[in-house]
Amino acid sequence: MTVKPFEKKIWLSSPTMHGDEQKFVKEAFDTNWVSTVGPHLAELEKTAASYVDMPYGVALASGTAALHLAVKLAGIKPGENVFCSDMTFSATVNPVSYEKGKQIFIDSEYDTWNMDPTALEQAFKLYPDTRVVMLAHLYGTPAKLDEILSICKKHKAILIEDAAESLGATYKGKQTGSFGTYNIISYNGNKIITCSGGGMLFTHDEESANKARKWATQARENAPWYQHEELGYNYRMSNILAGIGRGQYLHLEEHLAQKRSIYERYQKGLKDLPLTMNPYIKGQMEPNFWLSSILIKPEAICQQVRGEKEGRYVKEKGKSCPTHIMETLAKYNVESRPIWKPMHLQPIYLNNPFVTKEGENKTTDVGADIFNRGLCLPSDNKMTPEQQDTIIEIIKECFK
Ligand SMILES: *Cc1c(COP(=O)(O)O)cnc(C)c1O
Repeated sequence: MTVKPFEKKIWLSSPTMHGDEQKFVKEAFDTNWVSTVGPHLAELEKTAASYVDMPYGVALASGTAALHLAVKLAGIKPGENVFCSDMTFSATVNPVSYEKGKQIFIDSEYDTWNMDPTALEQAFKLYPDTRVVMLAHLYGTPAKLDEILSICKKHKAILIEDAAESLGATYKGKQTGSFGTYNIISYNGNKIITCSGGGMLFTHDEESANKARKWATQARENAPWYQHEELGYNYRMSNILAGIGRGQYLHLEEHLAQKRSIYERYQKGLKDLPLTMNPYIKGQMEPNFWLSSILIKPEAICQQVRGEKEGRYVKEKGKSCPTHIMETLAKYNVESRPIWKPMHLQPIYLNNPFVTKEGENKTTDVGADIFNRGLCLPSDNKMTPEQQDTIIEIIKECFK
């Protein structure tokens, strides 16, 4: 194959600005609303909440801060168990530790790569008093929400949705980020839209939204001096960044369409290879296609081992593996990324329980299997179809 490395790096997913963002930022400067108070904040909260059809939004410095305040609103106490998605970014589950709660990791299923409802049901058998379920929608594909919600209802637990990756994705026509009691999205730089950094917490009642806003601004009481009855945080978003967010929302539909066509182009281009794309249930869910990913068929995986910090493989004819593809793409100046390494395999969480569809004895481990065979492909919406076709050719070459 005679392909030269790309001159400009092809990113997994990078910010895409349009000019509208700068107009809102200029407005913030011109009116001197450059700090954590100002009209863009209220407008962004309104736009974000109405987009997902939630009554209240609270603009925060990050999705992680939003998750922390969701955990606080849920009232997690030290030592309390929380059922958490296992295959996700650590930011989903770390806030449970901020409140000294304990994560119980729930295995994934193959249909959407999200929390397996059967494993969740098993977990309630083992830990029946659990009150909170923390659910992420991986790579923008909604989880099996009907099943998960009905299990939560049966066990009188509440759902916190981590929709950081799935803004714009719908389940049975309803936006992710609107199913739980407290829900969050992220505006980190690599997400489908960005504020440069930021997040939004959604609630159903004004009281919770006000509580979160108060906690996020150092928990000042209504007094002439700095009066404190509760622990506060410096978690509020800046009005400048809220301006960027307002500009980005004007282009969200465009980003969604671009991400979808990237997914479809990979699906078509890679269809003859021994792999499948990150799956979703057609007719039931519309992902936002934030990251296009692949899962290599077991029979096409070459010998590989992964230690704690590095991966090795032996290339075999007709076979490949995530590390091989990732290293090959990197040679062409293309970024790709392994699937999130499941939390139950992370040194920091090795002592936390892990529940699969078979209970607590680890005979199956769907998350580990997807991690071993999966890879996130470059899904940047500024990648041209021609560039993507070259990337597809490079991947094909890996299986020769
Ligand atoms: C990005 C991300 C977060 C964290 O959002 P930040 O805004 O970066 O703090 C949380 N959960 C998931 C699943 C994410 O992908």
